[in-house]
Amino acid sequence: MKIVRTIGGMKAAVRLAKKEGRTIGFVPTMGFLHEGHLSLVRACRESADVSVVSIFVNPLQFGPKEDFKEYPRDLERDRRLLEREGVDFVFQPEASEIYPAGYRTTVEVEGLQDVLCGRSRPGHFKGVATVVLKLFHIVEPNVAFFGQKDAQQAVILRKMVEDLNLDLELRVLPIVRESDGLAMSSRNVYLGKDERRAALILFHSLAEAQRMYRQGERRTGVIVARLKEMIAGEPLAREDYVEIVDCRDLSSLDLIDRDVLVALAVFIGRTRLIDNTILTSGKNPSSYMKGGTESGSPSKLNLRGAEDEKNPS
Ligand code: AMP
Repeated sequence: MKIVRTIGGMKAAVRLAKKEGRTIGFVPTMGFLHEGHLSLVRACRESADVSVVSIFVNPLQFGPKEDFKEYPRDLERDRRLLEREGVDFVFQPEASEIYPAGYRTTVEVEGLQDVLCGRSRPGHFKGVATVVLKLFHIVEPNVAFFGQKDAQQAVILRKMVEDLNLDLELRVLPIVRESDGLAMSSRNVYLGKDERRAALILFHSLAEAQRMYRQGERRTGVIVARLKEMIAGEPLAREDYVEIVDCRDLSSLDLIDRDVLVALAVFIGRTRLIDNTILTSGKNPSSYMKGGTESGSPSKLNLRGAEDEKNPS
């Protein structure tokens, strides 16, 4: 496994691999890796000849009052994990390599960037889209992997790929959870013991949404109200938002008449956690996240909901 720190070095490695007719798979991360990241890495290894994982805590996607400085980092451990997975290249640039003095260009995916997490994190998705577009230009992947954990990010990046005619396939894989249901996240390390227990309110709320939907509830207002009530009942939790939106364009709905995303953001103490699930009729499952064509392995996208996501296939 090679560690590459410069854009020039990464471009040269990619150029060589492509000249040899090999395909490139790419997993962008901010490091402090867990099984969620590693599920993407494994899919990447299976799908492409050469695997590239980037580790870059992107300053542009953090607000001034957010946790850029504290964001957990453990590069030694990350490298060991990636080496064990058989990754070919780790791209690990300094911030000054990606944003040299005088840097001015950004990418905005209008509309989609302003809803859900965009409301409480203004500028976040501009930072994400900008860095991912830059990374795509540097790594030139044939296929890139993202997690449904960050569903809004996936929708935004898919739109960017479409709108800017990028020649790559974007694949989105299911949320990997701890054995009790908590979605894995690098930020879970911030949680104290009581907070860790309280954080299960996200998973339990999503499971409740699935249950209500299975029992025939189709009014988004009724489901959202129940989830808000559950979150309010957990003393260590403070809701940021609970919303049910169209899976493709993130627009709000009164009635569930298509595949929808139930998305939440909840503060547990000072830690803001996000989670989501998809409510689907199952008759005509949406392929909005999976990417590529419907012919991909069905196990690659879990459309079954929070309870089943506990043990993703
Ligand atoms: P991050 O390091 O948080 O920027 O995440 C890098 C990638 O891993 C993103 O595409 C995330 O959506 C994905 N990811 C993070 N947590 C999980 C999880 N629990 N399950 C699946 N994918 C995840």
